[in-house]
Parts: sequence; C-alpha cells; structure tokens
Amino acid sequence: MKTIKSARAMSSLARKLIASGETIGLVPTMGYLHEGHMSLVDIARKKSSTVVVTLFVNPTQFGPGEDFKNYPRNTRRDLQMLNRRGADYVFMPTVSAMYPKDYKTYVTVEGLTDSLEGKYRPGHFRGVTTIVTKLFNICRPDVAVFGQKDYQQVIVLRKMTTDLDFPIKFVIAPTVREKDGLAMSSRNSYFNDSQRTEAVCLYRGLQAARAAFRAGKTNPAFLAEQVQKTAKQICQTVVFDYVAVTDFDSLSPSKRAKKGDVLSVAARVHGVRLIDNIRL
Ligand code: AMP
Repeated sequence: MKTIKSARAMSSLARKLIASGETIGLVPTMGYLHEGHMSLVDIARKKSSTVVVTLFVNPTQFGPGEDFKNYPRNTRRDLQMLNRRGADYVFMPTVSAMYPKDYKTYVTVEGLTDSLEGKYRPGHFRGVTTIVTKLFNICRPDVAVFGQKDYQQVIVLRKMTTDLDFPIKFVIAPTVREKDGLAMSSRNSYFNDSQRTEAVCLYRGLQAARAAFRAGKTNPAFLAEQVQKTAKQICQTVVFDYVAVTDFDSLSPSKRAKKGDVLSVAARVHGVRLIDNIRL
C-alpha cells in the first residue's frame, strides 16, 4: 500500500493507472476508521482492480461551533487497518493543499440540501459536494462507494455525480452496526462506557417505529413519536433535531409512510450529535 500526499502526485498516478487498464474504486473518508469504512473498501475491491482510499478531515463541511478541531484522528492506526484490508493507495492531502489561501470555488446541489441535515447544518453539504468533486477530479475513479449511514449525503452526491456528468458508478453501501445495533461512527469514540450503552437509543427507536409500520401504522407523526418515546426510555436526556419519513430517492416527506421509505433521525446523545436511518 502506498500513501500519497500531493494532489498532483495523486492525479498523475490516477492517469497512469487508467492508461495501464486499471479500474479505480474510490472510498472517501475522514479517517478514524472503523468496520463501516472497511466494508466500503471491500465493496470497492470487488468492483474495481485498484482501491484508493482518501483520508481527509474536510474543514468546509463543518459549521462554526462544530467538532472540526476535535474530530478524532489516528492516521497510523488508519493506515495499518487499510494495509491489512488490502487498499492499494491512500490519498491524504493537507488542508492547505486542498484549500489554499485564495480558494474560491464551491459546488452546490440545490433543493435536496435544504431539509433534514441541511436545515440543521447550513453549509455542510456545500463542503461535502465541493470536496467530493475535488476528489473525483484528482483520483478519477470508475466506481465510488459511500455509506447509507449518511443517507442524505448519498442522495445529494448521487445527484451531483449525475448532474455534473462524472463517468462514475455510484455505489451505496449498507450501514454496518455494532453488536447492539448502534451504527458505527467515528464520533462514537466521544462516549464513555455508560453513555455508549445508551447511544443505541436511536436505533432502538427506529426499530420500534418500523415494527409499528409493519403492524400497519403509516402516519409519519405517529412513527416519529415511537422513535422519540422508545429512545427516551433508554436515554432520558436525548435531544432530537428531527425524525423524518421520506421517499428514498427524492427526500420528499411522505404524507403516509410506504414500503421503501427512509426513517431518519438526528439527535444529541450525551452532547454527541448522531444520525441514523433505516428503510421501512
Ligand atoms: P466519514 O469518515 O464519516 O466521512 O465516512 C466515510 C464514508 O464511510 C461515508 O461514505 C460514510 O457514509 C461511510 N460510513 C460511515 N459510517 C458507516 C457505517 N456504520 N456503515 C457503512 N458506511 C459508513
């Protein structure tokens, strides 16, 4: 496995790989890797001959007062995990290389970024779409793999990929969970043991609502209430930003929940902002 730090070196490597007939599978990450990220590496491996993983904590997707500075980082461990998992290249640029002082260009996807996360994290998706565009242009992937854990992100990035004519196969990977059901996340490392135990509350809430849906309940407000009620039984102090039932592709709120819709949630659990979702 080889690590590459400069965009120019990564760009010329990608050109060489393509010229020699390789197909490139890209897995963009912010590091502090876990089994969720590793599952994306496995998928990229299956769908392409060369796997490029990027490690970059992208400052433009964090709002003021969010955790950019404190975001967990452990590059040594990340590189060991990727090496063992069979990644071929790791692109890990510096912030100043990606965003030099005179940086001026941003990519935005309209409409899809207004609701859910977009409402609570203004500017977040502009940062995500900008960095992913840059990574696409530098790494020239044939395939790019993203996790459904970040549901709105995959819908927004998939739309961007189509709208901007990137010749890239866009793959959505299922959410990998801990044994108790907590969606794996780098931010889970913020919890102490007792907080970590309660962090499963969101998933338990989603499961309770899905059980209600399967029993015939289709009113989104009722399902949202099931999520909140169940979660509060596990963690009394949980604070919700939103619970939503939306159409998978359009992100539009469902008047009546239907099979295939996404039930998504964002909440603060012991001060840590978590998101999760399941399909109905
Ligand atoms: P991040 O490092 O949080 O930016 O995530 C990098 C990629 O890994 C994104 O495409 C995420 O959606 C994906 N990812 C994060 N957590 C999980 C998980 N638990 N299961 C599957 N994919 C995940």
